[in-house]
Amino acid sequence: MSAAATSRAPGSWGHYPSSHPYQMAACRNRQALILPTDSRSCLPFGNGRSYGDVCLNNNGTLLLTRGLDRFIAFDPATGILQAEAGVLLSEILTLIVPQGWFLPVTPGTQFVTLGGAVANDVHGKNHHIAGSFGCQIRAFELLRSDNSRRLCTPEQNTGWFRATVGGLGLTGLITWVEIQLQRIANPWIIAENRRFASLDEFLTLDAGYETRYPYIVSWIDCAATGKTLGRGIYMAGMHAPPGLRKPPPPERRALTVPFTPPVPLVNQLSVPWFNRLYYHLPRPARGLTPYQPFFYPLDNLLNWNRLYGRQGFFQYQCVISPAGIREALPEILARIAASGQGSMLAVLKRFGTKTSGGLLSFPRPGVTLALDFPNRGQPTLDLLEQLDEVTRQAGGAVYPAKDARMSGDSFRQYFPQWQEFSRYIDPGFSSSFWRRVMGD
Ligand SMILES: Cc1cc2nc3c(=O)[nH]c(=O)nc-3n(C[C@H](O)[C@H](O)[C@H](O)COP(=O)(O)OP(=O)(O)OC[C@H]3O[C@@H](n4cnc5c(N)ncnc54)[C@H](O)[C@@H]3O)c2cc1C
Repeated sequence: MSAAATSRAPGSWGHYPSSHPYQMAACRNRQALILPTDSRSCLPFGNGRSYGDVCLNNNGTLLLTRGLDRFIAFDPATGILQAEAGVLLSEILTLIVPQGWFLPVTPGTQFVTLGGAVANDVHGKNHHIAGSFGCQIRAFELLRSDNSRRLCTPEQNTGWFRATVGGLGLTGLITWVEIQLQRIANPWIIAENRRFASLDEFLTLDAGYETRYPYIVSWIDCAATGKTLGRGIYMAGMHAPPGLRKPPPPERRALTVPFTPPVPLVNQLSVPWFNRLYYHLPRPARGLTPYQPFFYPLDNLLNWNRLYGRQGFFQYQCVISPAGIREALPEILARIAASGQGSMLAVLKRFGTKTSGGLLSFPRPGVTLALDFPNRGQPTLDLLEQLDEVTRQAGGAVYPAKDARMSGDSFRQYFPQWQEFSRYIDPGFSSSFWRRVMGD
């Protein structure tokens, strides 16, 4: 471990709240790693793809994990992969896809670290069949602030395993992770697109597709009102059978948003226009596509978060249980549309029943809705509190990985196992998120 003389503190993806750690320490050699023992609390920082403050530790120490970037073992016969916690999912894909393997669960960006994927117990488009990332873990090592090390597996040190999967970095530093990959015959994806005109139509489509397709996700027009409320595009995909492929598309360099504009380009004028256009855009009902644009459509525009301007933005991601879907989801969408806030990035997805057992894991059976909101100050905070009201009443939950503002009361209601979880928190670790929801 070496104290890094980095002048600029890394922040989170939503650029809110701001990041003011006391110091940063770069983790490099996993075997020789010793955690700092001064009185300031530590928090691991992966690649900052969390939107709010779960990866921030104001006035404390951020343990920068990207230096833990080595592959430890990969068996192409069994698909068991062991790698250090700072390795990115994109780096894993580069290694495994040519050898006929794929990530068993992947979030909507490939630029997250293994440690970050475990600590938020991330989910992907296949949650209805595969569960979350935590369901795919065979083992990991946890380094505590007393510099003891624990091997955690679903059968060994089970309490530590369940607290660390989805544990928001609070139980210690994960140094390496071992996962089981999934075999694929072909990295190309057969993708289907269907327009739906209402939430009822979405639910009908979903019931048909979820048994036939491993990957499903929908875009929803959050600016639509009245008769068009709940309309969107349903997208389903599966890995193609062997041999079915097209000539690879010409290699294109990802575009980048070069600077943060003084005013957000995502605003009340641009969103309804964009959404109307996107909904009506002609798209093939069925086609073959490379896996990257299917799983990671946003990764092709680097730094797209800058489009929200200097004030940053919030993401609101909730899950609503099956019993509450027909009432709570239309209510949430109607409140967003009436407020004139919200963005083009609105996603709807079904969660299945398979669970990792993580004490603070977010996924649970139901439908999850995720939307971005440009930060307009108090009006945005008021709207998000209103959405929380609906989510709380529906017995749902909000995703900490995307959150920067939920109240402590909401958090305790959404995550009733928080007290059991608290017993596993490392006394030398804390985060801005945890202090916020615990009220100190
Ligand atoms: C475009 C985009 C799409 C996304 N799509 C999805 C999605 O589909 N599904 C989903 O679930 N999430 C999604 N996310 C959120 C993202 O997957 C998670 O926030 C993820 O945890 C970020 O990983 P990171 O490496 O950037 O970690 P960070 O954001 O830096 O940290 C996340 C948490 O992990 C902890 N942590 C990091 N490394 C370690 C370690 N080595 N040991 C212990 N704790 C550690 C941190 O303390 C923090 O609490 C998306 C994010 C973006 C920007």
